[in-house]
Amino acid sequence: MVHNSPLNPHIELDKKLDTLHGVGPRMLPKLKKLGLNTIEDALYHLPIRYEDRRQLKTINQLTDNQQEIFVGTVLASGETVTSRSYRKIYEVIVGDSSGKVSLKWFRYRKPWLQKRFPIGQKAIFIGDVKRFSAIREIHHPDSELLGDDQDLQQLIKSDPINFGRILPVYSLTEGLSQKQARKIWYRLIQEYADKVPDVIPAAIQNKYQLLPIPLALQQAHWPDQSINLDELEKGRDRGRYSLVFDEFFFLELGLALKRAGVQLEEGISFKLSHKYTIPLNKLLPFKLTTAQRRVLGEIKTDMLSPHPMHRLLQGDVGSGKTIVALMAALIAIENQAQVAVVAPTEILAEQHYQTFQRWLEQLGLKICLLQGNMPAVAKRKTLEQIAQGEIDLVVGTHAVLQEGVEFHSLGLGIIDEQHRFGVQQRGLLKRKGVNPDMLVMTATPIPRTLSMTLYGDLSVSVIDQLPPGRKPVTTRRFSASKRSRGYQLIQQELRQGRQAYVVYPLVEESEKSDLQAATVAAESFTTEIFPEFKIGLLHGRMKTAEKDAVMNSFREGDIQLLVATTVIEVGVDVPNATVMMIEHADRFGLSQLHQLRGRVGRGADKSYCLLIPSDHYSEDAARRLHVMVQTEDGFRIAEADLEIRGPGDFLGVRQAGLPDFRVASLLRDLRILESARQEAFDYVQKTDQLNTLEAKPVKDELIRRWGGRLELAAIG
Ligand code: ADP
Ligand code: MG
Repeated sequence: MVHNSPLNPHIELDKKLDTLHGVGPRMLPKLKKLGLNTIEDALYHLPIRYEDRRQLKTINQLTDNQQEIFVGTVLASGETVTSRSYRKIYEVIVGDSSGKVSLKWFRYRKPWLQKRFPIGQKAIFIGDVKRFSAIREIHHPDSELLGDDQDLQQLIKSDPINFGRILPVYSLTEGLSQKQARKIWYRLIQEYADKVPDVIPAAIQNKYQLLPIPLALQQAHWPDQSINLDELEKGRDRGRYSLVFDEFFFLELGLALKRAGVQLEEGISFKLSHKYTIPLNKLLPFKLTTAQRRVLGEIKTDMLSPHPMHRLLQGDVGSGKTIVALMAALIAIENQAQVAVVAPTEILAEQHYQTFQRWLEQLGLKICLLQGNMPAVAKRKTLEQIAQGEIDLVVGTHAVLQEGVEFHSLGLGIIDEQHRFGVQQRGLLKRKGVNPDMLVMTATPIPRTLSMTLYGDLSVSVIDQLPPGRKPVTTRRFSASKRSRGYQLIQQELRQGRQAYVVYPLVEESEKSDLQAATVAAESFTTEIFPEFKIGLLHGRMKTAEKDAVMNSFREGDIQLLVATTVIEVGVDVPNATVMMIEHADRFGLSQLHQLRGRVGRGADKSYCLLIPSDHYSEDAARRLHVMVQTEDGFRIAEADLEIRGPGDFLGVRQAGLPDFRVASLLRDLRILESARQEAFDYVQKTDQLNTLEAKPVKDELIRRWGGRLELAAIG
């Protein structure tokens, strides 16, 4: 395999996807939706599984409960009615010399099917084979029409992308079909796979039998005929192994260098002038906790250093991360740099805006809020002010990351509740400036064992102390029939001038009915249960302005009881709220329950969390509720979560605060990580920290990747 092209390979890899023939302005946004912007992104977007189309079977060879591909001729075609439910269906009977099979459609356009499958039509069919009675069935099969005298061999020749081989199956998005995806990735691999530099030292390549990266990419997308399908399906083929090793190797190289004190990128060296930080300290109604001050010290050290900061700030819910972020922001602003604060929900962005606004205004600084659905005129004006450098601090949702948002001089990017964002999104923010400092915040603790294997204790700051005067939140579980006791407690608190939340889960499949549950509940609170109080309703389907209005009334105390779906799960801070009632509490995960409970107990008043499970719930759910009643400690809750779910499930979920990789999976590939780490640390030592001639290509490639996405991956 040829090595990379002599000129900068990454110029090719950084190209936008529409440089690829066949990807036009209509396709581009669809690929973007999958998180794919550049050629390199797409190269590493590996298939989620494969489909074996090397050979055709005869109909009597089809295996039940398996996806199969075969050729047949239409023997009968027409609408019928199911014997059981009397529903209309469309059925096509297809046969070959060995037998017959029934194809069924439950949703269809009749004229289309009639036209496509007249009696005598020959076609290739692909689908999951099921057996309900004597004759096998396939529901909603894919098909490819054949001429009378056409057979598979001819089809393979005319359409080598879709037949006669093991085919990749990609994750898709609306408007992108599997067939289109295959066409795109076929071209992509042909034209660009060999542009990826392959620089892992030969000795290591040999020892682990790694394929050169271009070949590995090719095998992972378009495997050879001879590949072991079982290994491929399990992600244990050579191609994927090599890509995973490569990804871990470069991550660990970067960490090894960092440990040795070598920095890879030039960044901004901020200076401390205390122009705004000291005045803010005087304005604040409280003193920072010891933990907050320690963490701020760590952040300052990073910001003063001439290299970009990539720091993860972890602190349990309510530990006061926001104010630390504000202090860091002021340091950047003192140096004439701009700051961006990005939050995952509109509600949280709006809240941060209000918090920051309150302080920045008093310091004479300018702040703005950037949301997705702002009026066009206001948005244009805001964008202009940001680009001119008239705005010191921008708060917003994902809208901040979009193209068209340009900063005059972004010096610090802050991401709140980082587990809601992917590496790519963090990368987008970073690229809005020239190597700006990055601070990402999370309430989710990373299990210690994992964080050690992955990245030692580099660049993680922990606020391990709550502000003084917090009283523990009393958590109780009531069965649904005892709900009225919960209401009594709510009433008692509301009468004393406090506020309360009642939360309903929002499960995707039943989104509608849950919304309804919240809506109906809000009504019955207003008319029957608490007619003396003002009730508000908040859910994700509401317009931004409506949400803002409700949240503001709640914040100001006009609304006393807020009935909400999980839109309030993260970050919401209303210290006067003292009761959180969670309906169908069994349906929530532990970390979600912990986040929700974190909405109360934020002031000096005693607070309550009331868990109302559904009538029937699983044993695991019971254990989760028990943990919630037992402890408030985020770290212990995370450990219990790990225990109840098992490491597999825990690692499988991104919210665990773990880094996300392009191809590697921590769950499956932990052993590869260990090897790669070992080799990377050895190599750094052997090559005088990558300073030998031989190590030069490795170092160049590391610089290219590190700081782009690798270091961002490393900070979870
Ligand atoms: P989180 O870490 O969950 O984001 P916040 O930053 O929202 O927590 O802070 C929670 C509440 O604690 C806020 O109302 C904030 O004003 C308050 N707070 C933060 N730091 C202190 C402190 N040192 N002393 C007293 N209250 C504080
Ligand atoms: Mg917060």
